[in-house]
Amino acid sequence: MGNKDKARERREKRRQEISLVRTIPYSDHQRWWTSNTIAVVTGANRGIGYEISHQLAGHGLTVIFTSRDTSVGEEAAKVLQERGLNVVYRQLDIVDPSSIEAFSTWIEEVYGGIDILVNNAGVNFNFGSDNSVEHAEKVIATNYYGTKNMIKAMVPLMRHSTSGARILNVSSRLGRLNGRRNRIGNVELRRKLEDDESLSEELIDQTMDMFLEQVKDGSWKEGGWPQVYTDYSLSKLAVNTYTRLMARIYSERVEGEKVYMNCCCPGWVKTRMTDWAGHTSPEEGADTAVWLALLQDQTVSGRFFAERREINF
Ligand code: NDP
Repeated sequence: MGNKDKARERREKRRQEISLVRTIPYSDHQRWWTSNTIAVVTGANRGIGYEISHQLAGHGLTVIFTSRDTSVGEEAAKVLQERGLNVVYRQLDIVDPSSIEAFSTWIEEVYGGIDILVNNAGVNFNFGSDNSVEHAEKVIATNYYGTKNMIKAMVPLMRHSTSGARILNVSSRLGRLNGRRNRIGNVELRRKLEDDESLSEELIDQTMDMFLEQVKDGSWKEGGWPQVYTDYSLSKLAVNTYTRLMARIYSERVEGEKVYMNCCCPGWVKTRMTDWAGHTSPEEGADTAVWLALLQDQTVSGRFFAERREINF
């Protein structure tokens, strides 16, 4: 059996294991949440974000279903509302500071705060074997800075509780620092990003700036950046390293005010982002994010997951 077949077999086996586990309902003991638990999902109008919203609302939480385009978002939210799910629509563009501000003011006035933030919104402009960086600025602005904008805006609004507030960043294996393939070639930079002592927000931002400058002056191909979907992979590398960094900072908060932050890879999912290629349905792609958001064990933070298992950054 070839490696591809073996990988397919492993994937299929894991998929079956997870679908079996998903048939077992959460017990009362596991349910730390109620219908008053507020989960905000970004980019909820389609794909994985829609499914995350669907599943969280199905577990009985109140989902704040957001999208940048109001009419598209309202239409999508209506489908879940008509099924009797507790889904409330609100406009939110994660790269528009005024939209984030209006959203923050609204959520504080109406709900007094939130319990879960799922940073799902993202963009990618490469398909198949493409590797264009034409949209690099937008990709990094949305996937990394947009996610960071939301974390900075929502953390002050996260309600204090013994269960802990949670942030889930939907990321990608393509952004692994130490994947065997597709990693940063500059060993020193990689070590700095890996090491908790040298990792900082400035270092992550500087790495993105360095790449974007090379995109502008045309030298990025010699820069030793990830070889596949370079801009997208780097944007997710930034999300992953930022998750590690901020999880550590938030874990130093006093008991009752802690924020637990993890990231996950949904797999290769059939959505518009992949031009409906992929191994996995949006429903399955949403599973790990939902499972992590609802974890009873609050000590899990600063980690990276796929198919409900921890993977290396
Ligand atoms: P889709 O392209 O189907 O959905 C992306 C969503 O993000 C859309 O709702 C889109 O809104 C929204 N979005 C984009 N920019 C913004 C913005 N500025 N503000 C608010 N929302 C925005 O992709 P997927 O569902 O596949 O992707 C969801 C997440 O999963 C992404 O973070 C992606 O990187 C990640 N991922 C996906 C994989 C896959 O195989 N599909 C693999 C690994 C990770 P609009 O409709 O307005 O464009």
